Amino acid sequence: MRETIKRGTIELDVEGEIAVTAANNQTILIPYNSAWKTVMIQVSGGLDSALLAFLTAREYAAMGLETKIQPLSFEVEAKAKTLNSARKIIAGIKEKLNDYDRILPGIEKVIPYHLCKNPHKNQEFIKGIKEAWRQASVDFEFNGNTKNPPAETRESFANNDGREVGRDDRSTIYNGFKSASPLALVDKQAVVSLHHKYGLFEAVTRHTLSCDMEEEVVKAKGWSVPCGHCWWCYERAWGFESNGLQDPAN
Ligand SMILES: [Zn+2]
Repeated sequence: MRETIKRGTIELDVEGEIAVTAANNQTILIPYNSAWKTVMIQVSGGLDSALLAFLTAREYAAMGLETKIQPLSFEVEAKAKTLNSARKIIAGIKEKLNDYDRILPGIEKVIPYHLCKNPHKNQEFIKGIKEAWRQASVDFEFNGNTKNPPAETRESFANNDGREVGRDDRSTIYNGFKSASPLALVDKQAVVSLHHKYGLFEAVTRHTLSCDMEEEVVKAKGWSVPCGHCWWCYERAWGFESNGLQDPAN
């Protein structure tokens, strides 16, 4: 029997949520619906969406659901990060789960250099997501957005440049009727704890890149990638340090 889950006034097309517990009793909630044929997951090349794709594939299989996962990845030409990270992550998840059917071939979109500044960049993201929805007949979408680290932790970060304030204190994983951020209530410490718990370091974690720095800046400053200077690099370093673990990508 189908049930409906309500969040506020929105009636969601969801049967339930699979709960996965991480460090500090933080909980990831993965929505499911046995009627869904395809869930799209934005695989950015970072730690969060890599974990989300892995857990969704793993938990859906464990529940006997037939829902497939459609990865969607963007390359923003001005950034140092390329599609290479996402490709290796997807391959690593398949290898780790020994399941080559659950995850469909990835859809890739490139945001050309001249459209990399907002508002163009945001419009290109939205356009790409809409195109992929139609292309893959998607029933529901996930992204890997996480909660920001606690305020007292962030004080040690050298800058706030990449922080999205809206991620400080979310109360729901849902972004809308057909969109969720299953990691919205957990932070990077929780994400790293699960990469470790599920033994992903070799096959998946070492291929992830969290750095969001622009290629031009990296070159001008003579830095390497990851840069170690952007907000996302600080957040990642905290994720590993707070678990007492070495980052396998270093
Ligand atoms: Zn960086």
